[in-house]
Amino acid sequence: MIDFATHRQRLHAKIAAVRASRAPQTLLEAKGGCQHDWRKFKQSVRPRGEWIGMEAYFVVLGCERCKAKRTVDYVVER
Ligand SMILES: [Zn+2]
Repeated sequence: MIDFATHRQRLHAKIAAVRASRAPQTLLEAKGGCQHDWRKFKQSVRPRGEWIGMEAYFVVLGCERCKAKRTVDYVVER
């Protein structure tokens, strides 16, 4: 059996840790003089093995000007 809830919880914990390690202000900081123009988009992940048949994606903030990218969430749909 797939322990889906546990797996998901672990992922969320990991993401929360990554998030906490970055100060929220850095999101708005200009990098190399770029006034970031953040756009939210989905970055699909192809599930493998026991996850086949599910759709997963990262919710990513990307700046079209300097190509900076920031993962803000991870979503699994079944
Ligand atoms: Zn930028």
